[in-house]
Amino acid sequence: MIHDNLNVAANGHLCFVGRDTVALAQKYGTPLYLMDEEKIRDRIRVYKKAFEDFFPEGSVPEYASKAFSCKQIYRIVAEEGINVDVVSVGELYTAVKAGVSAKNCFYHGNNKTDADISFAIEQGIGHFVADSLDEIYAIDAIAKQKEIIQPIFLRVTPDIDPHTHKKIATGSVDSKFGIAIKTGQALAAVKEILTLNNIKLSGFHCHVGSQVFDSKPFCNSAEIMLEFIKEVNEQTGYMAKSLNLGGGFGVRYVESDPVIDYRSKIKEVADKVNEVSKKLQIPVPKIMMEPGRSLVADSGITLYTVGSVKEIPNYKTYVSVDGGMTDNPRYTLYESKYTVINATNADKEADVKAVIAGRCCESGDLIGEDIPIAKARRGDILAVLTTGAYNYSMASNYNRVPRPPVVMLTKDNEYIAVKRESLDDIIALDE
Ligand SMILES: *Cc1c(COP(=O)(O)O)cnc(C)c1O
Repeated sequence: MIHDNLNVAANGHLCFVGRDTVALAQKYGTPLYLMDEEKIRDRIRVYKKAFEDFFPEGSVPEYASKAFSCKQIYRIVAEEGINVDVVSVGELYTAVKAGVSAKNCFYHGNNKTDADISFAIEQGIGHFVADSLDEIYAIDAIAKQKEIIQPIFLRVTPDIDPHTHKKIATGSVDSKFGIAIKTGQALAAVKEILTLNNIKLSGFHCHVGSQVFDSKPFCNSAEIMLEFIKEVNEQTGYMAKSLNLGGGFGVRYVESDPVIDYRSKIKEVADKVNEVSKKLQIPVPKIMMEPGRSLVADSGITLYTVGSVKEIPNYKTYVSVDGGMTDNPRYTLYESKYTVINATNADKEADVKAVIAGRCCESGDLIGEDIPIAKARRGDILAVLTTGAYNYSMASNYNRVPRPPVVMLTKDNEYIAVKRESLDDIIALDE
């Protein structure tokens, strides 16, 4: 199977982390998110070890927590000893409540309000990743009021095309994120920052995009960023000690996606960073990267119950499930590809091509089209694979559908990390 935490039991049911998914669906109800805790920990360790082995001391990966955010994942990340990226006060608050030190958090995003900045400073945020001059002035002013000096990274755009979906490519000059190197604005911003009293510039940040399988876009952006560090040094005397190369390594959603060896990809990036730093005669900076999906995506699956199978002769077969865009909007947003298995009949051949449809009153509410699957009937359990990232975190209550629970599995343990929303939760804020 596509991931090593899946197998088929003698009764034909799909097993995940050694457990019968049909039995789990019965026990917890559907839709249901399942996550493999040990796989998440293993993946974090692969990154952390590679950083220790290949980059200068103090180089630490950060978990881009927008991929999957709840208290339990922050506890796991804190226990494993890596840092955390947040993009909102909601994520920061969850992380802090879970016991993460705000010092180990990096606050991203292209529009932080004054209230966001104040809140984060009060929590003791380690770094803001500043995205614009407007924001830099705001952080400086608020830090001044609070009588502190706030460390920041500056997000710049290296103008790299990572050859991924345009909605998840972020490193180009015309991106909504960051400040462009090419136009001279990034250098101008650094000069401005260096005149401000309540901000300390720790280094530079870039992020080229997501679902990238090759180390090349990272190597290319590393080269551009190191050249920028050198140029800044020549023009201002400021030498950046840290460089964050962003997130974005890919994961396998379907069999045709490549298998990726994260350790060797990180080594390729490190080799490039060392080579270019040497060529430019600058000290090798501490390196950060901020993987999101590659830490959690293939640790998750979603289970649904089939409600109807509708064959339209010579057209399509619709298999409708009891979830959809409310728990996984990624096909609707990006036409993301997924592997789907009839978990009740996982030993049967995928003999039908079906449209897997969600339950919302939207034609676009689909999990996928042209999906090979073993013939399904009402009551069968379907498993959608690789849903550990950008599923629960993107879930909504559209159509007043309650969000599914997240159940974590280890070899010896099984527990609810997030409860199922109730109908009373749905009306909880209504006056
Ligand atoms: C989304 C994002 C990430 C994580 O991307 P993945 O594809 O999940 O690894 C990292 N950094 C920034 C700035 C992002 O916007």
